[in-house]
Amino acid sequence: MTALLWLRDDLRLRDNPALVAAAEHGPVTAVYLLDEASPGIRPLGGATKWWLHESLRTLATDLEQLGVPLVLRRGAAAEVIPALVRELGATGVFWNRRYGGVERDIDASIKSALREAGVHVASSAANLLFEPWTVQTGSGGPYGVFTPFWKACLAGPVPRQPLELPQRLVGGAGAASDSLDEWTLQPRTPDWAGGLRESWTPGERGAHDRLAIFLETGLPAYADGRDFTDRDVTSRLSPHLRFGEISPFQVWHAAATRREAHPEPVRKFLSEVGWREFAWHVLFHFPELANRNWKPQFDAFPWERPEPLILRAWQRGNTGVDLVDAGMRELWHTGTMHNRVRMVVASFLTKNLRIDWRLGEAWFWDTLVDADAASNPFSWQWVAGSGADAAPYFRVFNPELQAEKFDPQGRYRARWLGTELRPSPIVDLKASRDAALAAYDVISRAAKTQ
Ligand code: FAD
Repeated sequence: MTALLWLRDDLRLRDNPALVAAAEHGPVTAVYLLDEASPGIRPLGGATKWWLHESLRTLATDLEQLGVPLVLRRGAAAEVIPALVRELGATGVFWNRRYGGVERDIDASIKSALREAGVHVASSAANLLFEPWTVQTGSGGPYGVFTPFWKACLAGPVPRQPLELPQRLVGGAGAASDSLDEWTLQPRTPDWAGGLRESWTPGERGAHDRLAIFLETGLPAYADGRDFTDRDVTSRLSPHLRFGEISPFQVWHAAATRREAHPEPVRKFLSEVGWREFAWHVLFHFPELANRNWKPQFDAFPWERPEPLILRAWQRGNTGVDLVDAGMRELWHTGTMHNRVRMVVASFLTKNLRIDWRLGEAWFWDTLVDADAASNPFSWQWVAGSGADAAPYFRVFNPELQAEKFDPQGRYRARWLGTELRPSPIVDLKASRDAALAAYDVISRAAKTQ
């Protein structure tokens, strides 16, 4: 009775229901598959590849200490997983659920092929607090606005407690494995990952250390401080959650135990975790989220043809708009950007420069260590106005006012811009804002007359 544990975006040992189920079935062999071959799969960007390498390296060590081999394979899941099952003579296959459209189809077809071959297959809920099909409006459809969505989630059963490591865990047989270095996930020349190494400790232990620091130092100031770009009060858990090195259940319960001492910060923090849930639920119901406007009226929006030099100036933080450039340089150096500044740079790209949100989303996909199949396109569409949101299009972030408000002493800008002489902005903020609103007026009037 050999159990194959197929690890995906759940690179952790604790609170891993698939690992618990596999250990109950028999001796466990774990596999991580680098799948860039299945049709429709979105390959990882540069920063997430770097993270994945680091995370798998620590996971392999942790598994080894438990005597569980980690097999690395590359290829299309529908071929590689059944072949490995045959090679190992595995009688059971265990995984935690994925929620993207392509991934669900792949998993469903592998599940039915294996079952037909007499292999036991079990999938578990591990990476979202609420399964997408369990949260519905009164009329039975998905929510399109966050506030009622989160209210409905909170009205349901409390998320389950995190699971411990299985008490009895026996390692299974090994099998031929790729070497991690062969996958060349890490940059060679030039080695641009120095800033990432300085900023992050990928892996399960790194995730729990981050959570512990946040609970002590950040959480008490979170409700009032999270929007300020120059304060270090947010959790920085997003890449750890992205790769499943820590589960939302662990985060939820760790924060919830502080509710009495810090009611408002805990409420606010959990509602941000709720935005992650919302993004995934929206993706579940609208799998084309990274490619298509959630609001179809935006299909007619007159985006500017992107001038390569202008797009490059935005990507590299050379627009002449201080907060935008500071954010884009923070991203380039560290693989992350403060949430408030993400909104500002996205608004600047899609509204002041009127460049299609998909180009901004693609840049973030390549450069963010937390680049997430749901949160990234969801947030881009939310800022662009085409997404799941009640707020009107004319919410255009003014980067200068945002800087005055959320970087009042200029510390954040100074950190990323230094003392360089600044060029003048590549676009007039007011005139471009007016042009964006006029463009929106055209599609909104067209939608009303349809
Ligand atoms: P905290 O404030 O400590 O929040 C705790 C957790 O809640 C985060 O780790 C994250 O998992 C979740 N969360 C918080 N805010 C949001 C949000 N607005 N939407 C979804 N989840 C949220 N987040 C990603 O995880 N991956 C992305 O690819 C991503 N792309 C974004 C693109 C744009 C244009 C914008 C405006 C936001 C994007 N976000 C993305 C959301 C948000 O900026 C980050 O989750 C947050 O900055 C991470 O920092 P933190 O872990 O310190 O967050």
